[in-house]
Amino acid sequence: MTSRRSFLQTLSAPVWALPFVTPSNDEKYHEGKVLRVALIGLGSYASRVAEAMKDSKRAVVAGLVSGTPSKLVSWGAKYNVSASNCYNYETVDQIRNNSDIDAVYIITPNALHKDMAIRMAKAGKHVIVEKPMALNAKEAEEMVNACKKAGVQLLVGYRMHFEPKTLEIIRMRNAGEFGNVKFFQGLCGFRIGDPKQWRLNRALAGGGSMMDIGIYAVNGARYLIGEEPTWVTAQETKTDFVKFAEGVDETIQFQLGFPSGAVASCLSTYSMNNLDRFFLNGEKGFAELQPSTGYGPIKGRTNKGELQFPHITHQTIQMDEFAAILLDGKKPLVAVDGEEGLRDMRIIDALYTAVKSGKRVSLK
Ligand code: NAD
Repeated sequence: MTSRRSFLQTLSAPVWALPFVTPSNDEKYHEGKVLRVALIGLGSYASRVAEAMKDSKRAVVAGLVSGTPSKLVSWGAKYNVSASNCYNYETVDQIRNNSDIDAVYIITPNALHKDMAIRMAKAGKHVIVEKPMALNAKEAEEMVNACKKAGVQLLVGYRMHFEPKTLEIIRMRNAGEFGNVKFFQGLCGFRIGDPKQWRLNRALAGGGSMMDIGIYAVNGARYLIGEEPTWVTAQETKTDFVKFAEGVDETIQFQLGFPSGAVASCLSTYSMNNLDRFFLNGEKGFAELQPSTGYGPIKGRTNKGELQFPHITHQTIQMDEFAAILLDGKKPLVAVDGEEGLRDMRIIDALYTAVKSGKRVSLK
């Protein structure tokens, strides 16, 4: 039986030249070509991704990037990543010379996504970046262009795009089972804790709840209605002016209008729990997801009854699917590329503009 370390070392040979890969000593069974990923930013979500990747059939943690030397040592030991595949933020550009790594996964605070994505594109690696992909549409466009220019792919960590109950509702909508869709409601929020965290720092987060959790309602409205909005309106309310400083939104209610006449009505907040619900209403039926975007299990029902699909860790399916997209050219049912992330950033820019002006903002 091959050890995981020797398995990763073997991977420095071209993947197509490898014999069929047998289960490693941690019982992992790889199917097809394997995506070798370097995680950038070893915080709480990276930890969830790394744990989920233990069960991935197509993706392995092959590199680590952190500004904290002790994390590189402890994570290296935990995920069997050799010191030669570990970098800090000064040395990370050398990753261009590392043939053990196919892609990087940027899981740092939002403000650090753009520059790192462009650096890694220039280093010739596929770029996976967490949501929100950037602070605004201008940054997102720069990232899309840099990846195009470098000939690498750019994917955004939209894990819900692979969630089975979500995909079933999209399939039913595409099949006309709900008739013409008229309305979507997206409620996304939680009570945020530590006032000193980066999520409440405008420079690092780019805003407040909208950037972090409201983006799920923006994205969900698009993938469940199946259209691109043409206008937005938005209203902000704030109850705690200390915790939520200027430019850090606590709560935003917003509406999106779609070409068919469908409307979305959404809530993004950092001050209420138990808000994780999507509802889609059509002329012939409805669909409801609650919870809708948490780590799961997601619960869903339609006018035809409960949706029954086994729960699989979102980040595990996501990494399997990312491998299929990057290595096999698979086209997912709901896009996860940079253009998809850019669409959300354009809408969020428009929502912040609408909050300021109090007026309806058109999206071109
Ligand atoms: P975190 O604070 O737990 O981790 C961030 C990591 O970045 C830390 O290891 C920190 O040391 C590092 N870092 C590097 N430079 C930093 C700097 N200048 N300031 C602060 N930290 C710095 O945050 P997280 O919850 O892991 O979020 C990281 C990214 O992942 C965010 O973009 C977030 O939106 C996204 N995220 C996505 C999901 C999802 O379900 N898709 C869930 C959680 C977070």
